Order: sequence, then C-alpha cells, then structure tokens
Amino acid sequence: MNSNTAPRRILIVEDEVHIARGLIFNLEQEGYAVQHVENGRDALDLLDQESFDLLVLDLMLPDISGLDVCRHVREYFPDLLILMLTALGTDEDRIAGLSRGADDYLSKPFNLDEFLLRVKALLRRVPTAQTQRSSNFYRFGDNRVDLEQGLAHTPRGDFDLTDLEVKMLNVLIKKADQVVSRAELLQEVWGVTPDTETRTLDNFVVRLRKYFEKNPARPVHIQTVRGRGYRFVRKQG
Ligand code: CA
Repeated sequence: MNSNTAPRRILIVEDEVHIARGLIFNLEQEGYAVQHVENGRDALDLLDQESFDLLVLDLMLPDISGLDVCRHVREYFPDLLILMLTALGTDEDRIAGLSRGADDYLSKPFNLDEFLLRVKALLRRVPTAQTQRSSNFYRFGDNRVDLEQGLAHTPRGDFDLTDLEVKMLNVLIKKADQVVSRAELLQEVWGVTPDTETRTLDNFVVRLRKYFEKNPARPVHIQTVRGRGYRFVRKQG
C-alpha cells in the first residue's frame, strides 16, 4: 500500500478470539490498522467514537446479533463497509445479511487469502474514512444529531435545529452525566445572567424532550435534577 497515506482502519467484531487473532495478525501484516471487539454493544460504542473504513462483522454474537449491528450501522454510518462472517453459510443467511446492508459475505471456515482479497476489493470501492465522513454525528438513544450542520434525525423524523438548540445540546452533551445548572445554561446558551427571566430555558427543555425523548413526560436523556439543573444522559436504560 502507499506509504504516504494513512492505513485503512478496520474494526473486527468477533467473539471467537482465536479467529479474531488470526484476522488481526494477517490484516496488520497487510498494513491495515485493526481494532477488535468481542460483541455488538462494544462495536456500536466504538463506532460512535472512532471512524473506520471497514467492519468485519461476525453474524453470531453473544449480545446483539450481527444482523442487528449491520442494520444499525447502515442507518447511522451509511458509508461504512461491512464484510459479514458467518458459520451458517446458507443462501437464506446470505440474502438476509446482504439485504440488511452487508457489502460482502464470507462463510466460515474461510480461506485467509480469500478473506484478504475480499477486504482489499471492498476497500478499493471507497476513499478513506477521513474523507468520506464530512459530517459528524452524535448518537444517543434512537437519535443522531449533526451539531455542525444543525440536523437531527429521530424516530419522529428529521428536522433542522435552531442555533440556540444546537448550543444548548452542545453544552449538555459536553457535560454528559454531570449536572448543568440553569445559571450555566443561561450563561452559555443565551449569554444572560441567571437573574433574567428563565421561562425560555424551560421552554427549550420541553422542546428538546419532544424531539428526542421516547416519552417526553419521563425523560431519559435530558433529565431534571431537582433544584440543581439538568443532566444529559446518553445511554438508554
Ligand atoms: Ca460468533
């Protein structure tokens, strides 16, 4: 590979550690930058934090199935390539996998050379992760927001965020899991001191909950901490 370019980044999701080790070793020999997780949950967490070019995804995983991970990735990371691995290898599984958006499919046990060729062929299709991701999504629950572009994608639909909504989300997200006081929000978002009329803040919180909470009356992500302020929580349940 060209030594002037950054190595292509591959994430392996495989619970069988001996298989993963073999893949990692061989991919690294080829000059790829490889990371490995053993379950779907860890894969989704890592994908939120880092960009990859290719996901090598085992179908049979202990928690979230490979097909569910695949479906999720297609929704939130449409440009990420997926090579699915399975021990089943029936046509039905192949079709199910491809229909959920896997770019290619390999049945176990497979030949390592073939695996490497498939990886190479897939990666030839697209530019690097660094150039393909022009936007920067932040995901929480079933929502994802692009705070640079001011876009929100939620189960209720897609919509534009106002500058103030983006500012407010930025403050809350930056301080995830911590209490942010009303005074701090008023200062950071509106640039006003806390002795100013504060209904505006309440109205914003109501609106954001309507956008992003499954049940706005029982908020999971934008919680009220009585007498102290608000707390943003990324995880659901
Ligand atoms: Ca497995």
